[in-house]
Amino acid sequence: MIQFLYGVILLTAMGFAAGIGLGIAAKKFEVKEDSRVTELVKVLPGANCGLCGYPGCEAYAKAIVYKGEAIGKCVPGKKMGVEAKMKEIMARTNER
Ligand code: SF4
Repeated sequence: MIQFLYGVILLTAMGFAAGIGLGIAAKKFEVKEDSRVTELVKVLPGANCGLCGYPGCEAYAKAIVYKGEAIGKCVPGKKMGVEAKMKEIMARTNER
């Protein structure tokens, strides 16, 4: 019976150590995203229709911010008049 408890204690300690290690690694290797991506995603229609040539609104927003993609490719967004807001967001510098 005592050997069983040793096993449980050992596995619990290993779990805690792995959790702490993963937490430290997650903080150390964290990739911070440009805040404009989140803002663009909020402005875009969110239909994820793919008419812009990207698999979804977030992919299109990332392409605008990181690859310099043109702003007017979102067909539903054009009808909703989101381009001015998108241009305003892109005029700002990254405020992580
Ligand atoms: S066209 Fe507009 S709504 Fe459709 S996926 Fe692209 S960004 Fe989203």
